[in-house]
Amino acid sequence: MNKKRILTGIRPTGALHLGHYAGALENWVRLQDEYECFFLIADYQVSDYADDIDTVRQAVFEIATDWLAVGLDPERSHFVIESLVPEHAELTIWLSWYVGLGRLQRNPTLKAEMDELESRSKDAVPVAFFTYPVMQVANILMPKANLVPTGEDQSPHVEMTREVARRFNRLFGEVFPEPDGLVGRVPRLVGVDGQAKMSKSLNNAIYLKDDAEIVTQKVMRMYTDPTRIHATDPGHIEGNPVFMYHDAFNPDKAEVQDLKERYVVGKVGDVEVKQKLALALNALMEPIRERRARYEAQPALVREALASGSGYAKRVAEQTMSEVRAALRLNYLG
Ligand code: ATP
Ligand code: MG
Repeated sequence: MNKKRILTGIRPTGALHLGHYAGALENWVRLQDEYECFFLIADYQVSDYADDIDTVRQAVFEIATDWLAVGLDPERSHFVIESLVPEHAELTIWLSWYVGLGRLQRNPTLKAEMDELESRSKDAVPVAFFTYPVMQVANILMPKANLVPTGEDQSPHVEMTREVARRFNRLFGEVFPEPDGLVGRVPRLVGVDGQAKMSKSLNNAIYLKDDAEIVTQKVMRMYTDPTRIHATDPGHIEGNPVFMYHDAFNPDKAEVQDLKERYVVGKVGDVEVKQKLALALNALMEPIRERRARYEAQPALVREALASGSGYAKRVAEQTMSEVRAALRLNYLG
């Protein structure tokens, strides 16, 4: 097995949505032949873990089921529960000495999260907020990943990983490859409400497990051109989430082009544009839903995928950590 490796992941905070799909999952599915893939469920990195352990536990299985449903294949790829490989924590501790606080603060994704935290008192900001990005670095370096396919918001973490790998290698000898990032076809999918990112926490997501009726409902309520009152008003395509979704998910490019041409001159109503979008989305999602239902009925298969993937990742991590310990000369007692 001399394939190059992929490591990428997601936090178990809920089921997966179309943003995950277009930003990341599509690439993951496609790259499984070419790379040996590690798909990680990052339970160490859930910020409100203690508030709702049941939700996290449930989300671990939801995500693994979604993965199987979109076509991630545990025969070829490894489904890994992060905390079942505690070496992640050990590597995080070592690496945290080689990431400056200023460097974290310049990471735009973290900067946005920190701005949010600023409203809290210092005592309410957990130290883990500063270590979880280092843990992402450790996650990537653990299997010596060469490629990290993610949505755009994760690119700064990949850049940071390259820097840490370089620094570690310079100080202790060549252990880690510098991984490349790969952003999906839709780098950042907007929410159904028009907010910049579809996200569980913003409550603006279409979930892969939503049934056809819910998808249609969510689409019919989607935020669209706010300047348009009547179907005969000329509409705007630019920045209009409904058309962004058509571009992203409707394979019938001629239909999309026709809708756009009629929209800008006020010759089509939002209802028709949305109905066509709902049809396109449901056509894309139906096979995913069918496979999901099959795996839901066989929870033992989901469990087995997580058990074998985590077991394999643990063995890989033990190997990497023995190299790390040798590089750090931790063999005090011979
Ligand atoms: P959410 O943002 O919905 O709360 P999350 O933050 O828990 O989800 P992550 O673990 O950060 O999810 O993301 C998993 C992967 O999906 C990452 O590669 C991320 O970049 C990608 N992703 C998440 N949301 C989107 C989106 N709206 N558009 C494109 N990619 C996305
Ligand atoms: Mg996120």
